[in-house]
Amino acid sequence: MSTFVCTNQQTEKTSDSKIGVIVSILPQAEFVERVGGDKVKVTVMVPPGASPHTYEPKPGQLKEVSRAKVYFAVGSGIEFELAWMKKIVDLSTEILVLDCSEGIEIKEGDPHIWLSPFNAMIMVENIYQGLVQVDSVNKKYYSENKNKYIEELNKLDEELTLALSEKKNRKIMVYHPSWGYFTREYDLEQIPIEREGKEPTPKGILNSIKQAREEEITTIFASPQFDAKKAEVIAKEIGGDVVLLDPLSKDYIENMRKVALAFSRDLR
Ligand SMILES: [Zn+2]
Repeated sequence: MSTFVCTNQQTEKTSDSKIGVIVSILPQAEFVERVGGDKVKVTVMVPPGASPHTYEPKPGQLKEVSRAKVYFAVGSGIEFELAWMKKIVDLSTEILVLDCSEGIEIKEGDPHIWLSPFNAMIMVENIYQGLVQVDSVNKKYYSENKNKYIEELNKLDEELTLALSEKKNRKIMVYHPSWGYFTREYDLEQIPIEREGKEPTPKGILNSIKQAREEEITTIFASPQFDAKKAEVIAKEIGGDVVLLDPLSKDYIENMRKVALAFSRDLR
C-alpha cells in the first residue's frame, strides 16, 4: 500500500499527534516507518512509478511539508533533492533536514546508495538518531524498533551473500545503472546500457549488443520507472529476455530478495 498522501482529509485528525516526516523515496518511507512505528506519519515526495531523477512535486504535496517536523534527505545527490529540497524546506519555518547518507561513501557520483543492505543499515541508524533528536521521549521505543530492523537487514545481507556466491560469471547487464552499490557489495559487476543519465544512441545500443555477446549475457535488467523499449531491442538481438527489477520498491527486504534471486538465476 502506498503511503503517498496528497490531500487525504481523513488522516489529518489522527496525524496531529504523530511526528510528520518527509522523505524523498519509498524505501526511506519503509525505513522511517520501521523505526518510528505508530509515532510517525511519513509523506513520500516521489510517488510510486516516478523517478527521483526527474520528478517534480505537485502543489498538493507541498501542503504536507508545513506540518512536518523533519525531512530525511537521501543526501547522495539525487536530482529530485538537488532541484527541489531547498524550495520544499523553505516552505516551513521549523522543519529539520537530516541527511540519511551521513557515514556512507558516495562512489563515482552514484546516488543509489539505498540499494545495498549495508548502506540501508547506516541510513536506518541515521533515521533513528534523527527521530530521537525530534522526539527524545520515545527513544526506547525507537531503539527497540531500530535494533529489530537492523537484525532483519543483517539476516538479509547473509542471505544475499549466500545466494550470490559461487557464481563464475559475475557480470549483469542493466538498463539504468541503479545497482552499483549492490553489485560492489556482493562482488558483482553491472554493465549499464544507459550512460551518464542519457538514453543510449544507436551506436551505444550496438556496443551493448556486442558486449552482451562477448560476456555471454542473456538477461537485460530494466526497471518499471524507465521505458524498456531499448532494453527489449538489445534482448531480442542477443536472444535473451528483459527482467524488470524495481530500485524503489517500498517493501525493501522482500524486494532485495527478489533482486538477488533474479541476479543469481542469470549468473552461472
Ligand atoms: Zn536511478
